[in-house]
Amino acid sequence: MTRQSVWPPHGEPAAAVVTIGDELLLGDRVDTNRVRLARGLSELGFRVVWAASAGDEEPAIGDALAEAAARAEVVVATGGLGPTSDDRTREAVAARWDRPLREDPRIVAELRARFRSRGYHDLPAANRRQALVPSGAEVLPNPAGTAPGLHLRVPAPPSGEAPRDLILLPGVPSEMEALLQGEVADRLRGRFGDRLRPDEAMVVHTTGVAESVLAGRIEAVLGPEAGVRVAYRPSVLGVELRLSARGEGAGERLERAEARLAPILASFRFDDPSGDLAGAVGRGLRERGLRIAAAESCTGGLVLRRLTDIPGSSAWVTGGVVAYADRVKVEKLGVPSALLSAQGAVSEGVVRAMAEGVARGFGVEVGVGVTGIAGPGGAVAGKPVGTVWFAVAGPAGTTAERRLLPGDRREVRERAAQHALLLVLRALSENPGGGAG
Ligand code: ATP
Ligand code: MG
Repeated sequence: MTRQSVWPPHGEPAAAVVTIGDELLLGDRVDTNRVRLARGLSELGFRVVWAASAGDEEPAIGDALAEAAARAEVVVATGGLGPTSDDRTREAVAARWDRPLREDPRIVAELRARFRSRGYHDLPAANRRQALVPSGAEVLPNPAGTAPGLHLRVPAPPSGEAPRDLILLPGVPSEMEALLQGEVADRLRGRFGDRLRPDEAMVVHTTGVAESVLAGRIEAVLGPEAGVRVAYRPSVLGVELRLSARGEGAGERLERAEARLAPILASFRFDDPSGDLAGAVGRGLRERGLRIAAAESCTGGLVLRRLTDIPGSSAWVTGGVVAYADRVKVEKLGVPSALLSAQGAVSEGVVRAMAEGVARGFGVEVGVGVTGIAGPGGAVAGKPVGTVWFAVAGPAGTTAERRLLPGDRREVRERAAQHALLLVLRALSENPGGGAG
């Protein structure tokens, strides 16, 4: 029987993450592996207690791995397994735990086959290093690349505790991810089984509301007594919420939290498996048998681009007009010239006329219009950079809205396209009848 680890004293097993590579310390590369590993291990049911990065020198790698092994039962490291001479992770492990490297003939054979299939006659000498395995390590086949992962047990300091699981993965994020989701998850579940306390989690996509505003409203109805953690992942396009709970009754707590949040989130929430608002809009249009066209000024076609990025969108997108110049607004969308000179191109009257004009002109049920000032120039009195007017013309009439969007030109345009899509989604949900009725 294996002796239970005395550290941590209770609860789910502790895990640590080590990322390796000079580029991470120089700031040349964002350490996405750290985030992905931490999240992946948490989702598996570990408590992630420590994370560190080391450069490419052997002693630093050895120190970081040993420190991690002192703090956690499982250490997952990425990077430094590649073919070049600055990839030193194997050597560092060999030196630190006295595990001489030997060449694994099966890895050599696999590497050779892989290179031959790419048209190389022989295995480059540098890649042969990737077949070196510290003694006692198991090889984790890499479905997505050349360097396999490695799994070994190393003694825990202070002695007497259970040995640590040290898992070394390649640095390339897609390869790391493939191994983490597959072989590594299987092994860790097999080894830690009932000690793991996986999260129950639910992701809610929101847009059109600032993170701080959202957080304030959520905290007002969801206190610590709810037993649910809320994580906020903001981006230019919106805030993704991750609600999670652990342990006894986690599922019910999540459901209760979701019900309490429903009224707060109602006008900001959308459902889409990949978190794309355009996908949710597409489903809404399809379900109601409606088609859409867009009249875009400051977004220059971004709304249509978002819509047509969705596979199968030809069933519900008809087309649109990039009406950048006033003349195009008049000639192609039928916006009255008098309206343009009276209110200006960025105005409620013009955006309504754009949305209605494009729906009429394209013979579709839903028209969306966007006109605004993306900046950095172009601001006029009462219309600062970021001012954008939106309109949606649908079966239930036309609605218009003005927003002041933050950010530089690119961000204003992206936020504007997203907000236009949100208004279409709102118009659809207020109009459940649709084309058939
Ligand atoms: P390979 O088998 O491809 O040689 P490796 O284990 O040697 O993998 P590295 O050479 O350290 O890994 O990195 C390979 C690529 O992955 C590089 O482009 C590197 O910038 C990137 N990478 C490495 N570590 C990370 C990380 N922690 N986060 C994001 N990207 C990373
Ligand atoms: Mg490297």
